Amino acid sequence: MKPEDAAVKIIDVKVTTFTHTIHTEKDNDGHTHPGPPRTVKSSVLTIVAEGAEGHHVCPPEIVRPHVIEAFVKPVLIGQDAFMREKLWHALAHWQRGSAEQLTDRLLAVVDLALWDLAGRALGQPVYKLIGGYRSKVPAYGSTMCGDEIEGGLKTAQDYGRFAADLKRRGYQAIKLHTWMPPVSFAPSVEMDIKACAAVREAVGPGFPLMLDANHWYSRTQALTLGRAIQNLGYAWFEEPMEEASISSYVWMANQLDIPVIGPEVAWGKHFTRAEWIRAGACDILRTGVHDVGGLTPALKCVHLAESFNMDCEVHGTGAGNLTLCAVQPNGTWYERGLLHPHFDYDACPDYLLHPEDPIDAEGFVHLSDRPGLGQDVNWEWVKAHAVSTH
Ligand code: MG
Repeated sequence: MKPEDAAVKIIDVKVTTFTHTIHTEKDNDGHTHPGPPRTVKSSVLTIVAEGAEGHHVCPPEIVRPHVIEAFVKPVLIGQDAFMREKLWHALAHWQRGSAEQLTDRLLAVVDLALWDLAGRALGQPVYKLIGGYRSKVPAYGSTMCGDEIEGGLKTAQDYGRFAADLKRRGYQAIKLHTWMPPVSFAPSVEMDIKACAAVREAVGPGFPLMLDANHWYSRTQALTLGRAIQNLGYAWFEEPMEEASISSYVWMANQLDIPVIGPEVAWGKHFTRAEWIRAGACDILRTGVHDVGGLTPALKCVHLAESFNMDCEVHGTGAGNLTLCAVQPNGTWYERGLLHPHFDYDACPDYLLHPEDPIDAEGFVHLSDRPGLGQDVNWEWVKAHAVSTH
């Protein structure tokens, strides 16, 4: 067979938008909290190739008709679906001239759908195609941000109670997101320290704990908080300040013993991660498939960190991030959440056949051994609730 005969040619890119019910709401800083049931829309991007398809579910705004027609179809159609590096660079290079229409989030969805397609075409889970390191990953329970809900995450004692419950349920570590605006008393270094102390008290010494605090503290506020959780034996300190200021993180990391982790949301994909390492702005690198434009660039971040003897801890949930966790020797945790006393995270969404990150009683999340990325769409359900296709 000649190489060109082996190509898995892409013939179409489709988006199906459907409705489903969720039990969360977002505040006007974008933080998720429990909420009354409400109907929302999601979309599935499908890349159709000769003999194989790949999918990924995402918010409809990311895959709106204009960006699919103007950028994704011109780059993908007629190309070999297995040439992911080439396709990723073609999209990434078009970002500069796209007037910010072509987002990293869109690159990620396309890249994840291409990986899913490869797994399905070859009959393998994606983590084994890449080269697996482990097939189960310990999860840390990642809490929602604090709130003003009775019995929720309103007080330091609430955090302590919830942490004890998560530990009982098998979680091997816990990360707090503390109070952020628009909560009336937030942000507050003093309250953050109280919550961190209450959680340490609840779970006992030695249990791994992390803090992800308000992202806009000043240097001196961040240093005060970092020193306090260092004394409480926390395992890492995450994003207390605006990440665009790399020198602020250098300033802080130089004064703390507790590992500083980052960057999470900073623009610039793997290039920015390299600059953080070079500057000494973090002790543990951070990446996530939705933060840097897909699994393809996120793998570069993991390997970059490994080459500097650094751990790289993965941000965010879902099959793509779990796959990334499963192929790295230089990271420990899968971030599972966001969790809250009033929210059932374990319920499988109606539009999926299986949960993406099933957890066992010992707190391990298991990789799917089905072909593909590990996100199995319930097409019967999606078609019954479809509102548009393009
Ligand atoms: Mg974070």
